[in-house]
Amino acid sequence: MTDAVLHVCRACERYTLRELCPICGQPTRTPHPARFDATDRYGVYRRRLLAAVRAGAGSG
Ligand SMILES: [Zn+2]
Repeated sequence: MTDAVLHVCRACERYTLRELCPICGQPTRTPHPARFDATDRYGVYRRRLLAAVRAGAGSG
């Protein structure tokens, strides 16, 4: 199984699978994973729950 790594051009913001933009030749970057979403209003509760789960999950 191969995962294609998505890159985005710094200059023209075009998505590509290459490390160089096929359009303008500028180096691309990988978009940041959307781990923190400012619009996720339940994120604080989910992180709080996750912390509680992790705290109690050690006993196996
Ligand atoms: Zn480009």
